[in-house]
Amino acid sequence: MTTGKINVSVENIFPLIKKFLYSDHEIFLRELISNATDATLKLKHLTSIGEAKVDYGNPKIEVKIDKEGKKIHIIDQGLGMTADEVEKYINQIAFSGAEEFLEKYKDSAKDSGVIGHFGLGFYSAFMVAEKVEIITKSFKDEPAAHWTCDGSPEFTLEPHTKTDRGTEIILHVAEDSLEFLEEYKIRELLTKYNKFMPVPIKFGTKQEALPKPENAGDDYKTEYIEVDNIINNPNPAWTKQPSDLTDEDYKNFYRELYPMQFDEPLFNIHLNVDYPFNLTGILYFPKLTADLQIQKDKIQLYQNQVFVTDNVEGIVPEFLMMLKGVVDSPDIPLNVSRSYLQADGNVKKISNYITRKVSDKLKALFNENRADFESKWNDIKVVLEYGMLSEPKFYEKAGDFALYPTTDDKYYTLAELKEAIAPNQTDKNGKVVVLYASNKETQHGYIEIAKEKGYQVVVLDSPIVSHLIQKLEADNENVTFARVDADHIDKLIQKDEDTISKLSDDEKEKLKSAIETVVPKENYTIQMEALDSTSAPFIITQPEFMRRMKEMSQTGGGGMFGMGNFPDM
Ligand code: ADP
Ligand code: MG
Repeated sequence: MTTGKINVSVENIFPLIKKFLYSDHEIFLRELISNATDATLKLKHLTSIGEAKVDYGNPKIEVKIDKEGKKIHIIDQGLGMTADEVEKYINQIAFSGAEEFLEKYKDSAKDSGVIGHFGLGFYSAFMVAEKVEIITKSFKDEPAAHWTCDGSPEFTLEPHTKTDRGTEIILHVAEDSLEFLEEYKIRELLTKYNKFMPVPIKFGTKQEALPKPENAGDDYKTEYIEVDNIINNPNPAWTKQPSDLTDEDYKNFYRELYPMQFDEPLFNIHLNVDYPFNLTGILYFPKLTADLQIQKDKIQLYQNQVFVTDNVEGIVPEFLMMLKGVVDSPDIPLNVSRSYLQADGNVKKISNYITRKVSDKLKALFNENRADFESKWNDIKVVLEYGMLSEPKFYEKAGDFALYPTTDDKYYTLAELKEAIAPNQTDKNGKVVVLYASNKETQHGYIEIAKEKGYQVVVLDSPIVSHLIQKLEADNENVTFARVDADHIDKLIQKDEDTISKLSDDEKEKLKSAIETVVPKENYTIQMEALDSTSAPFIITQPEFMRRMKEMSQTGGGGMFGMGNFPDM
């Protein structure tokens, strides 16, 4: 028998990184640009506290493709590394220099915007490259260093002649990743991940028209100059103070976020909190279209202005997933599984904060300009009603601004509605009866009859309305809802004595039996009454209870946006 030790070699780690570190190979560019950004912001910080006595200038990051040479270059003008630092930060896998920096400059650097913290980002380069070079010159007075590694654990480190400060990363693109040498591909990645990063990123050049001189004649030909093609906006609206932004700025930013979206947002909510977690962002209430399912412009999640994902599940409360905009927080754990995310305490706090901000904003809009809020109600109600059902905290606050519009376009809160209709619509048990129509067109006849009797009818036509009614009834014991075509309206509400049919009793009986041959008796009630000013000689109604049971079973299972189940009620 032999015993031994299983040899775990470091050689195994590269193929592992290549395969599993990130499922998405394309994020290598995001990681390398994040490092270049970090290097730039660190230098900015060090010059601002006087620790680096160099001119910070107007640094930018440049991305270049060398298609023939099969290389991608990422060049920054940040703080650079000495040979010793390359040894320390690059050769030691999983040693995060970003974390060390934040630790060292704890108090002064907490707002520096430094991104990295896993110490693995750099090695994502090997997901697309068979060989990686680093040429780097520190802001310190030391010679430049040149590091080369071909994906095996061996590397070379030698001096280099580079004299200008900063780092150049050269990726020798692997045969299976040649797509990343295409200009359109890189542009696509830069727009996806780096559109709002804080340091300008140059990708090629573009022609820019010179302004026409004042003395130009008719035959003046526009002149162009070659300028840097900067692909990002380093100061996106959400990083600014709400007080520095106008309505127009918010709308412009919406168009910047969603260039293909032509609708104007209804209103926006600027998120801004730094305790107990950091979070900024802008959410927009879009005009909802009928096809709620088809929504490709989603809320985008950023971390220090780096795009992370547009899957904000768990972070943004479910009912607000239909909104658009951005959320930026360094406190959201990334690259971890979704179930972990849901269990994370910070994440739950973030979701609660967003719910609160949204309800505060809605209440403010309601208080400041009620007419305007009313005009928007029909575009936002589906989201809000769903929120009332799914988030108890939101439900509590929504009592102040949730509206119940009547068929005559009056918009009541529930409290106002109760007060308005109580004198005329109270049943024998003292409950206020809210009559509602779920479809203004098909229930038109019933609405007219109810109005004729002096009743007000509210329009509740969202797909989840039967659930909402159930909840409202459970929470307001002196209110009951009845659909306008329900059989018991007249039994509920004190009977109006003078609704006399124009038909004789005998005629009524005959007509009734005739109708019953086509309308199943078990499901419907036929009331033989004709009202003076309506043309209806009789009314067919349906028991409220039966209809509700049916509706609940139809809408109960699926969830409204196909996003899961309704909460238990
Ligand atoms: P992290 O960014 O999480 O710290 P990385 O693996 O992305 O981890 O990078 C490791 C370290 O290498 C960084 O923390 C930094 O110290 C150093 N580094 C990487 N890229 C650069 C760069 N462009 N300029 C200066 N230092 C860099
Ligand atoms: Mg990094």
